[in-house]
Amino acid sequence: GVIWYDGELVPWRNATTHVLTHTLHYGMGVFEGLRAYEAAKGPAIFRLTEHTQRLFNSAHIFKMRIPFDQATLNDAQRAVVRENKLTSGYIRPIVFYGSEAMGLSARNLSVHVAVAAWPWGAYLGADGLENGIRVKTTSFTRHHVNINMCRAKSVATYTNSILAHQEVAQDGYHEALLLDVDGYVAEGSGENIFIVKQGKLYTPDLTACLEGITRASVMQLAQEIGIEVIEKRLTRDEVYCADEAFFTGTAAEITPIRELDCRSIGSGTRGPITERLQTLFFDCVNGRSND
Ligand code: PLP
Repeated sequence: GVIWYDGELVPWRNATTHVLTHTLHYGMGVFEGLRAYEAAKGPAIFRLTEHTQRLFNSAHIFKMRIPFDQATLNDAQRAVVRENKLTSGYIRPIVFYGSEAMGLSARNLSVHVAVAAWPWGAYLGADGLENGIRVKTTSFTRHHVNINMCRAKSVATYTNSILAHQEVAQDGYHEALLLDVDGYVAEGSGENIFIVKQGKLYTPDLTACLEGITRASVMQLAQEIGIEVIEKRLTRDEVYCADEAFFTGTAAEITPIRELDCRSIGSGTRGPITERLQTLFFDCVNGRSND
């Protein structure tokens, strides 16, 4: 396969970087994750322009100057899907510093961009999409300050996400729920969370979670079918007592949560509103390109 690397398509094995790459040592790097879905006119990248915009916002927060414009990176992502002959799959743009200097005060470092893509199925399993997953609250919290600033999708944030995920996965749970520093529900290790209560949809406001693009899509789809969506801080017990709950994310798509901390949620299986939103979502992603 090929990877787009600083403006060129290079063979997968040649897309390498030096061990003194600044980002490898200090974690100043930003990235995105997108999905391409099979569509009638070839693979359609879901919400391409929104993801590229978020990549630029993340870089801006980190004061990294991406040496390409957004249109070029949109084309790069399309090219990687096309050149790898993918009909569907996952796309990973990453922005990182070069290896010109080490240290915290390194200045004028070069900024590099790579885009890779690969086939990828249901992240939390096909069974999870249909029957829901078991989730546990992790001891690792989601911080909305410093490296974990929520508007940035940064490499550094993912150390926390991985610790959170591993902590619960080793006990057999499918995914972790992170609370914010005040103890309110924040998000999954790589997903936003929603609950359904008495026909209304609730999701945490953006204090301590990533502004998910799937989250925004689901909010829009819900509103289109007349479901009220309320963004507010949620407590763990509101999730325990919800009628339905689900995660959203590029990787997880819409995955029902059947249990949190060994308390079944609602009927303990996928709820009717979750299922309806999944149907609308998959119609949307499979039906047309949204770029
Ligand atoms: N929250 C975190 C921490 C994430 O890493 C992701 C994945 O990108 C999301 C939420 C969901 O965001 P999106 O729907 O844009 O993929």
